[in-house]
Amino acid sequence: MSQRRRGARAGAPSTIGIVGGGQLGRMMALAGYPLGLDFLFLDRSGDTPAAQVATSLVGEFTDPAMLAELARRSGVISFDWENISVPALRKATRGSAVRVSPPLRALAAAQDRLSEKRLFDRLRIPTTHYAAVNSRAALHRALRDIGLPGVLKTRRMGYDGKGQAVIRTAADADAAWQAMGAVPLLYEGFIPFDYEVSCIAARGRDGELAFYPLSRNVHHAGILRVTAAPWHDVALERAARRHLRALLTALDYVGVLAVEFFVRGGRLVANEMAPRVHNSGHWTIEGAATSQFENHVRAVAGLPLGATTPRGHAGMVNLIGAVPEKSPLLALPDVHLHDYGKEPRPGRKVGHVTVVCASSKERDQQLHRLLKSLYPELSGLL
Ligand code: AMP
Repeated sequence: MSQRRRGARAGAPSTIGIVGGGQLGRMMALAGYPLGLDFLFLDRSGDTPAAQVATSLVGEFTDPAMLAELARRSGVISFDWENISVPALRKATRGSAVRVSPPLRALAAAQDRLSEKRLFDRLRIPTTHYAAVNSRAALHRALRDIGLPGVLKTRRMGYDGKGQAVIRTAADADAAWQAMGAVPLLYEGFIPFDYEVSCIAARGRDGELAFYPLSRNVHHAGILRVTAAPWHDVALERAARRHLRALLTALDYVGVLAVEFFVRGGRLVANEMAPRVHNSGHWTIEGAATSQFENHVRAVAGLPLGATTPRGHAGMVNLIGAVPEKSPLLALPDVHLHDYGKEPRPGRKVGHVTVVCASSKERDQQLHRLLKSLYPELSGLL
């Protein structure tokens, strides 16, 4: 009781304030309620996936009054989207007892592809060749130094393949410069990868670490479409864990961190990191002893982490554009549906389905079946 009263002044210790009210935040709340945690969201819209399950403040992510209110009513602040304002959040929480987890330094590094690459370099995590591009001349220098093909990306605000263009010729480069040149850019070498994987780990307040098995990911047009996990490759997993451990320790990280890698010739090349729960970890809700969402909220709330042991062989398919008819989907054995409650819109992630099977063979068959019925155009991707 006394703790409750204290909490009312300093922000309830069991309330996690989350900047961003998308599906990631919603799944954090759904994972945290059984632990007795409470959630308060801030988003620009009142009609978000998170607002359907938790109280939500409506305001700009940079609004000092809104951020101050979130800080006042929360014991800890986290976020479900990385394109929020670091200076605004820093200002709103400076001098207050409220923590921000993951730390703002991790958010700042992940928001700018150049800082992220420099961090990878500093920690000896292999990444693509890259160059900052702030002028047409710098772009041509980058093409000369790094070569073709390559990918030109906006340094900030890129996600789901947005804000990037593949450059195969000098003419492509000029067209991309016309389209994107108004903002700071990064040019990187195109990696003809064999496949893509991600590694997700959690770090607790006391430095405790927990790693999920590797996930194998299939993207289409820059958007994650399918994940299969665990992806068994002992050498790759060892290397990925080494890289994540380096990041988590260097950043004095608290929460879940995901890193996406290209795999080429049996080696990892880091593409990018996400200082948050990640789409390629959605399979952990049914496919692991403790989901990434639960481990994230456990970590930020200062609780011990849960086991990350897989519970079979999981496959996840993102639902893009609109949630398909539910009955035929749910009639399939082992299928779990997550509908984010979003309005349908082309290209929008509106839900996902997960299958958990006894063997990887059975899982792959299930994934093929799902893709054939939901997205026949993608069935060749696996
Ligand atoms: P990103 O937004 O950087 O994660 O890119 C989205 C997807 O685009 C990646 O998962 C890859 O499938 C593809 N991609 C991005 N950068 C490269 C690259 N340098 N070489 C090859 N494919 C890339």
